[in-house]
Amino acid sequence: MSNISYMLYACPMRRVTVVGSGVIGLSVAHELARAGDAVTVVADADIAHTVSTVAAAVWFPYLSASPATGDWLTRSLARYRAISLDESAGVDLRAGTVVERTPHPDRSWTPVVAGATEATVLPEGALSGVRATVPVVTSGVYGEWLTARCRDLGVRFEVRGVASVDECAGNADLVVVAAGLRSGQLLGDDSSVVPVRGQVVRLENPGLTDWWIDDDNPGGLTYVVPRRDDIVCGGVSEVGATSLELDDATERAILERTTALVPQLAGLRIVSRGVGLRPSRPTVRLERVPGHAVPVIACYGHGGSGVTLSWGCAEAVVELAQAG
Ligand SMILES: Cc1cc2nc3c(=O)[nH]c(=O)nc-3n(C[C@H](O)[C@H](O)[C@H](O)COP(=O)(O)OP(=O)(O)OC[C@H]3O[C@@H](n4cnc5c(N)ncnc54)[C@H](O)[C@@H]3O)c2cc1C
Repeated sequence: MSNISYMLYACPMRRVTVVGSGVIGLSVAHELARAGDAVTVVADADIAHTVSTVAAAVWFPYLSASPATGDWLTRSLARYRAISLDESAGVDLRAGTVVERTPHPDRSWTPVVAGATEATVLPEGALSGVRATVPVVTSGVYGEWLTARCRDLGVRFEVRGVASVDECAGNADLVVVAAGLRSGQLLGDDSSVVPVRGQVVRLENPGLTDWWIDDDNPGGLTYVVPRRDDIVCGGVSEVGATSLELDDATERAILERTTALVPQLAGLRIVSRGVGLRPSRPTVRLERVPGHAVPVIACYGHGGSGVTLSWGCAEAVVELAQAG
């Protein structure tokens, strides 16, 4: 036996099944494949048909508590900065403003972002604000790019539903559950994942680049995210709501609030609309899960920050996988 074939025999590639093809599943698959694993993504919807493509998608933490969030934010930001150099990825670094309307706003995210400063231009009623340059992701373009990068690394894709992680045991040495809202059901031990419904209306973009996030707007969650091909206007944050139907009254209210925030939006043509259910959990779950027929790592519950945290969490999954 030659040395090379002996090494291959001695160190077979670990077979990993990643359940989920949203931004979390694909980022995890990418990182595991990059680390040398033989990765198969199993999902009943590709990224274009997940909540990951409904996302606005601006790099900003929202509804995603965890003691490790700071680390994941830092790592993800660094990766997105590098990715933004590839024009085809659909990631742009853009300046914008986080509006603050409470006396003690949460600025825990600002140390991560070099150059974040006090905002000087603020809407009526705001007490303060932060101006920062962060990644803005044109999610449709990015989803295709990320899928292609996974394929380049040898990731295989299977389109099918999975009823429980244990059914993956025969074909995998490790299963990563990155199934968003349905992850708890798959594992059978977690009923704490709840949908937080969001709705957006997307306008034509005549060339705007500045984004706005106004979480505490008295009228409700408000944001304006200009991307390459549209301007995403949102939103709502309806805990426990499961309807994927568009609501006209919600859309009217979104347009009213966002136009008050950014008057240049007045009269712009609507190009599309979207509804999605954020997979929310008291804390993001990223850990080994014992008690199954195959080793399992959970990576889900990213709430309104799945795009924001994706690379940091994917890197953490690889470290966890290698530690075990
Ligand atoms: C309106 C709106 C705006 C948002 N804006 C932002 C933003 O600006 N920035 C940001 O970071 N985040 C944003 N988010 C949140 C973000 O979209 C989510 O956190 C993220 O998409 C979650 O990704 P995921 O991969 O965990 O889940 P998903 O995208 O839901 O993917 C889940 C995957 O698992 C598969 N799956 C599930 N169960 C099974 C099963 N049993 N068998 C087989 N496959 C299965 C699905 O087919 C799918 O492929 C927003 C969300 C909404 C709704």
